[in-house]
Amino acid sequence: MLEQIANTTRQETAVTDFPRSLVEFQRRFADEAACVAYLVQERWPRGFCCPGCGTGKAWQLQTKPWTWECAACGRQTSVTAGTIMHHSKLPLTTWFWAAYLMATHSNGISALQLQRQLALGSYKTAWLLCAKLRRSLVAPGRAPLAGLVEVDETVIVCRSKNDPLTGGGGRSHQGKILLVGAVEIQDGGAGPGRIRLQQVPDYSAQSLHAFVAANLAPGATAKTDGWSGYPGAPGVRHDPHVVGKMAAHIVLPWSHRIFSNVKVWALGVYHGLRRRHLQSYLDEFVFRFNRRRTRHAAFQSLLGIAAARAPLTYNMLITPEAKA
Ligand SMILES: [Zn+2]
Repeated sequence: MLEQIANTTRQETAVTDFPRSLVEFQRRFADEAACVAYLVQERWPRGFCCPGCGTGKAWQLQTKPWTWECAACGRQTSVTAGTIMHHSKLPLTTWFWAAYLMATHSNGISALQLQRQLALGSYKTAWLLCAKLRRSLVAPGRAPLAGLVEVDETVIVCRSKNDPLTGGGGRSHQGKILLVGAVEIQDGGAGPGRIRLQQVPDYSAQSLHAFVAANLAPGATAKTDGWSGYPGAPGVRHDPHVVGKMAAHIVLPWSHRIFSNVKVWALGVYHGLRRRHLQSYLDEFVFRFNRRRTRHAAFQSLLGIAAARAPLTYNMLITPEAKA
């Protein structure tokens, strides 16, 4: 049984065309068909286009879910191909809900919370769902920070497996992790732009230069507290402000605010972070912060829809670099 779809010209999805509330979301993505319609619109905004031959005429297969067969060359194309939903046994509505909750919760959501909210059968299912969504957190080829950028370092206290939920490991050097952060300064210091956070083994010039090289665009200006590890980083200007410890929050106000937010967040949502997973949680914080004004983009990134337009990009996503 085949059913032809009309290849009418569709308009590009407007940025504002995104559910603003849970009620609106539930209404819009009430069933599988609604989710498929959204994916089709995102994937083929100007109508179906066969990736094999470029023809626009296709039949939706009744025997395979969410799959179209090209009328010209017979190639079958799934609307979820290239996204993290491909070959999943979970309903699309579950994927959509999970991505929506993750993208819109200002503090993030744990696997346990997700299991309860979506009534998932097992914790393992919820955990895997979270892990797959987290694969989308580091966008491949993301643009490095540019212009004036605060670069600073801090120490985060980690929780070991055996530590109590509060206060463990405070004095032990083993319970501490070194962190470097960078914050774009916009509008002459009025507000932060995008951020980056990276775990580092030490504050040596080698570690700090590697961070700067990976996260700052050539020509950017690194504003630092004058620590000797920063000067000489290739490709960027250095703007050192040598200060005593007490005044650092005045010279580098935004990085200090970000650091303190990370620490509060880590304690509040996760009761402290563990060393083993630290970078993936930092990535999550960065992802959410950098998309704080564009939740629709966060939602699409999480589902891999944005990546589905460029399959190669998705291949890069699933490499270990993405740190699930
Ligand atoms: Zn074709």
